[in-house]
Amino acid sequence: MKKMKLSLRHLIIFVALLSCVLTLVSSLWSGYHTDKQTLIANNLETNRVYAQKLAETTDIFFKATLQTLRFSSMDIASFMQNDEQKLLHEANRLKEQTNTFNSVVITDAKGKILATSPQSLQLKDKMLASPGGKQALKEKKPLISKPYTAITGRLVIFISHPIFDKKGNYLGLVGGTLYLKEKNILNTLLGEHFYQDGSYVYVVDGDGRVVYHQNPQRVNDVVVENPVVQKIMQGKSGAEQVINTKKQDMLAGYSYIPIADWGIVAQRPVDQALAPATEMLNEMVQQSLPFLLVSLLVIWWISRRIAQPLHQLAHYTENSTENSQEKHIENVMAWYYEAIQLKKSLLHSLVFLHNRVNYFMYQSTTDPLTKLTNRRTMDEKMKNWVENDVPFSLILLDIDRFKRVNDTYGHSIGDEVLKFLACQMNEVSRESDICCRFGGEEFVILLPHTEKMEAFKVAERLRMNMESSTSPCGETVTISAGVSSYPDCTSEITKVIEQADECLYEAKNSGRNRTIVFEHSHKVLQC
Ligand code: GH3
Ligand code: MG
Ligand code: MG
Repeated sequence: MKKMKLSLRHLIIFVALLSCVLTLVSSLWSGYHTDKQTLIANNLETNRVYAQKLAETTDIFFKATLQTLRFSSMDIASFMQNDEQKLLHEANRLKEQTNTFNSVVITDAKGKILATSPQSLQLKDKMLASPGGKQALKEKKPLISKPYTAITGRLVIFISHPIFDKKGNYLGLVGGTLYLKEKNILNTLLGEHFYQDGSYVYVVDGDGRVVYHQNPQRVNDVVVENPVVQKIMQGKSGAEQVINTKKQDMLAGYSYIPIADWGIVAQRPVDQALAPATEMLNEMVQQSLPFLLVSLLVIWWISRRIAQPLHQLAHYTENSTENSQEKHIENVMAWYYEAIQLKKSLLHSLVFLHNRVNYFMYQSTTDPLTKLTNRRTMDEKMKNWVENDVPFSLILLDIDRFKRVNDTYGHSIGDEVLKFLACQMNEVSRESDICCRFGGEEFVILLPHTEKMEAFKVAERLRMNMESSTSPCGETVTISAGVSSYPDCTSEITKVIEQADECLYEAKNSGRNRTIVFEHSHKVLQC
């Protein structure tokens, strides 16, 4: 399997994506966190104000109730001794008209019950034995008792006022009970004040006992471990986040009611309070998604634009020795500093490299004096033609009496004569022909797709040109030549040269300045 290469583009996409996601997550998180803090602070403040408001309402209720009992006690004092009917009437009035008490009782100074409402309680002439009643008889002052279980088995509180005559003699008391676990005035006062959202209100007395709770089962529970209740027991008001006795995380506002030594707690579960923040987070995520998708597309496009020039340059450098790569590199759209510089230096080094390569190729294939192809290249060409079944002819030629030229005019003039012959060779040959310096003052012309007689004509043209021109040494220099061809004369490549050499030897021996073509049986002299 092909191993995937980590490219610049992948890296750019990765970095851009990472920063995009991190920004999104951090902004979502900080938004959520801020929202959460605000919601907690707002809920605590709302619950604090709410608890305070309910505490004030309850305070007013108790004061008004004690006031009602005070007026009633003044009335009762005037007919208490002699009018049983009126006492009964007053008890009924207090229960029915005020709509405050679950039951009402009027006693004399010793605690004997003179009248009750409802009468169904059948307590008349019995002694008031409840803890709240006893305390009130003893203290002889307005009282809101602590919760206690009455003889009827009900959990109650007793609110009472003493009865004094005009001289200030204690005559007894008038009081009413609230059945804490049944429908009472506190239900009406506080009961509506909880919502569907999990908020609710409860009331504790100074001993940390639940006096009122939306769930009647909880009434009479002692909840002193609750930190908020502990604050109330110290007479404090305020708001704080607490874990309640049911191990729920709550945002609680609490307020102390001095008249009853009670406290009101208004609270809401943290989960419910933070629901809007979670909702907001979901909404933000949903709204961010299209933005994230568009960002992805933009990132993809930009990273492509940035990485493409470098990617292309890197790709083309893999095959930089090919000449065509230069053209590709020229076409790379480099549009920023690094890519522009890279492209420039790549092109420079490629041009330099190709020049060097061309130079060394030229050096290794060319004869430095005559600029003709050298022997090695000639051998390669012939081998290549044989492999590709290309028929060709070969002319081997040698300057006649060249030693004498050298001896007479010097070596450098001899070199000029060699160059002159090379020019003549190029003149008579076609573009597809290859002119080589075979060695010393011997030369070869290779003629692809050429019959030996055609080659002979070329050799003759060259010989005659030399014969009729003046060479650089100032006199005419002639040449002798031998012609052979492949595969006409031989199927072996080495033999082609040998046969041409034989013909050249023949030409020299038969007087020079002539061309001889190889024939199987004999060499043919042509001139
Ligand atoms: P022939 O007609 O039999 O060929 O007589 P020749 O004098 O040409 O004899 P030969 O071909 O043997 O002579 C070759 C001479 O070519 C010998 C050498 O001095 C000369 N020669 C070989 N290479 C060079 C060269 O690069 N420059 C010069 N100036 N002379 C060269
Ligand atoms: Mg020679
Ligand atoms: Mg010679």
